[in-house]
Amino acid sequence: MGADKSYALEKVLIREDEIKSIVKTLAGRINEDYKGKKLIIIGVLKGAFVFLSDLVREIKSDVQIEFIKASSYGSKTISTGEVNTEYVSFSFDVAGTNLLIVDDILDTGHTLTRMMDMFREKNAASVELCVFLDKVERRQVPLTAKYTGKVIPDEFVVGYGLDFNESHRNLPYIAVVNTSKQ
Ligand code: 5GP
Ligand code: MG
Repeated sequence: MGADKSYALEKVLIREDEIKSIVKTLAGRINEDYKGKKLIIIGVLKGAFVFLSDLVREIKSDVQIEFIKASSYGSKTISTGEVNTEYVSFSFDVAGTNLLIVDDILDTGHTLTRMMDMFREKNAASVELCVFLDKVERRQVPLTAKYTGKVIPDEFVVGYGLDFNESHRNLPYIAVVNTSKQ
């Protein structure tokens, strides 16, 4: 698939209908927990943009949407643990706010741990995490998301916002990439 023949999309891991039901379940829990509260959802670019856009349309609370950019991957499929965090749009004072960080996948945990610590240092009233996928086996730092869509095995996945060298973010399902296949 694509011009680069050094990898192949191996199999569909999560179908579109399952994605929809995962998102509804997560949104139901978030709606319950933040009932009557103002919520600031912070999407982690770029990977979270598809999941975030589905999720926020199910949220009933008064919600403000912000984005942050962070990357620990470059073009490799193995995390280096080095995290660059860059604010994209912050026109608000974090102190006293209820923040929900939304990301595509929780892997080693380095990126999101750093990000959550940063918001706590800025005195947010609460900082919680919602991830669509979780590769529990890969964790290097102790971090559990309050809201997890689905735990997946240690395989490199694309689609639903997740990329491989910036391709495949637009797939409406989650697929596994096999980097050794011709
Ligand atoms: P970590 O938890 O290791 O600090 O980094 C998580 C980030 O690594 C995710 O937000 C995502 O950008 C990237 N990542 C981790 N696993 C995968 C994967 O299987 N596929 C893709 N496309 N990105 C991944
Ligand atoms: Mg990411």
